[in-house]
Amino acid sequence: MVNKNNDDRIEQVDRSKVREEVQLQLEEIIKNSSDGIFIHDQGTILEVDQTFLTMTGYTEEEVVGRNFLDFITDEHQEKTKNDLLSLSDDSFEITGIKRDGTDIILRAKSSSFPYQGEDVAIVFVQNVTQSKQKEEKISYLAYHDELTGLPNRTLFNHRLNLAMTYAQLKNSSLAVMFCDCDGFKKINDTLGHKVGDLLLIEFSKRLKNCIGEHDALSRISGDEFTILLSDTGKERAKEVATKISHAFTEPFEMEGHTIYLTTSTGISLYPSDGESGESLMKNADTAMYQAKRKGKNGYMFYETEMSHKSFNHFTLENELRTAIEREDFFLCYQPQIYLKTGEIVGLEALIRWEHPELGLVSPADFIPIAEKSELILLIGEWVLKTACLQIRTWQEKGLRPLKLSINFSAKQFQQPDIINKINHVVTETKIDPQQLVIEVTELAALSDDEEVFSAFHTLLNMGIKVNIDDFGTGYCSFDYLKRFPISKLKIDKSFIRNIDRDKENQAITEAIINMSHGLGLRVIAEGIETAEEMDYLKKLGCDEGQGFYFSRPKRGGDIQEKLRYE
Ligand code: C2E
Ligand code: MG
Ligand code: MG
Repeated sequence: MVNKNNDDRIEQVDRSKVREEVQLQLEEIIKNSSDGIFIHDQGTILEVDQTFLTMTGYTEEEVVGRNFLDFITDEHQEKTKNDLLSLSDDSFEITGIKRDGTDIILRAKSSSFPYQGEDVAIVFVQNVTQSKQKEEKISYLAYHDELTGLPNRTLFNHRLNLAMTYAQLKNSSLAVMFCDCDGFKKINDTLGHKVGDLLLIEFSKRLKNCIGEHDALSRISGDEFTILLSDTGKERAKEVATKISHAFTEPFEMEGHTIYLTTSTGISLYPSDGESGESLMKNADTAMYQAKRKGKNGYMFYETEMSHKSFNHFTLENELRTAIEREDFFLCYQPQIYLKTGEIVGLEALIRWEHPELGLVSPADFIPIAEKSELILLIGEWVLKTACLQIRTWQEKGLRPLKLSINFSAKQFQQPDIINKINHVVTETKIDPQQLVIEVTELAALSDDEEVFSAFHTLLNMGIKVNIDDFGTGYCSFDYLKRFPISKLKIDKSFIRNIDRDKENQAITEAIINMSHGLGLRVIAEGIETAEEMDYLKKLGCDEGQGFYFSRPKRGGDIQEKLRYE
């Protein structure tokens, strides 16, 4: 009996000693742990460590004695309660509210813990908010467009497939709309990407206002948007398309600029225009292309004949690649005339694409698409080389050594090795660089780039002049004209049309000519179609002219008669 009592006491002493030791060890662990720690009994907070307080922003007084669930968002209450009370070995996630009201996501692990003679729970937590948010953002971006927050192409395709399955079951129809901003690239290049981005956001909001809550809008690339109209036939699609056209007649006011931005829309219907998502998208794109050709801010429904007549974005890029390999291109040349004497002073090289099925494709159609990718660089190289070889051929034939202008896209100038490339071709073809002239439209797109600026100077030193094309259509400040070593300015043909009668065109053109001469630049007018237009320009003091009145662009062999010494 005595013995047993003794044994009990020894056991008692030992146990409390062990407990004390464990307590000390645990306190040591807590002190050295980089995790936040809280101890709770059935949810009531008993102790917290400094790391926990720093993570959450609370003071010890604000949390001790409170129920942990008081700091948990409503939708996570149930789950957190279960996780806290289960004491399983698995780690779990807690979404709590910090003192500043923002969410905090904690990765937590609980164990049982002896505390003042009771077994309670100790929870070790790590703040994983940032990595969780990053993960969420990555999975969000897999299906959304970051700029507008709209669904992207992947999510759109997914929805389209679902809608098609549903339409098949219900024996109903749906419409796919392909909307492409008219002339967005020019605005983006001239006013800068910041304005361009803001404009796309506002643009998408206007589109959204034109559709119903069950319809889906998405941004599938730069300035291309698609709309899915569920349970919709031709009539409703027409209503929506008309609404879209109306919505864009009002300009956008953006950072002090008044910008007119419209959209061309192509529409395809399920099931009549295609039974797969891919063919519906392709056909809507083809119809959009036709809408663009017809004029801006319009819409067109897909028709089967369109596929034969035109080409679409999806295949065009590949076709262009093949065209480069097969050399389906050729250059035409259009003379440039010194107006005072009527003599030819130069030629402009204009690219043509002889497509095996479509026939002759206009550069106005394919250059803008090539400019969206690096294809424009390959085309640009081909044009440069072919033009230089032509100069050489004419030189070998003993024809007059005229200046030959080639068109350069802004993208070509942005290549760091552009000077080397030009130099290489000029040396290889053994031409006089003075005979080569470069025309560029978007000076504003290049204006911030010091390298481009010095490239212009290098070219000038080599004897190659750079001229501004289509002046008056984009944004080009005096500052750029003064800063860049430009030689000549070409007035866009839209100002030349009917200049002998159109008062507005007269005023604009006169102002451009005077300004250019004031800056020491020569002026050329493009698109002269009549003798009256030419006479009027001569009267205004315009130096040179180009247009159908003098000659249409012709193949090298056909134009060379004009290049003989008279
Ligand atoms: P651009 O450089 O402004 O060329 C003038 C355009 O006006 C040419 O159209 C020409 O055929 C057309 N044109 C000439 N005279 C008249 C006229 O009297 N009346 C009218 N209405 N039009 C006239 P084209 O050849 O279709 O070229 C269109 C545009 O495509 C060019 O405009 C240029 O921006 C681009 N382009 C053409 N070739 C090339 C090239 O090799 N490289 C690049 N990057 N762009 C090119
Ligand atoms: Mg040109
Ligand atoms: Mg032009």
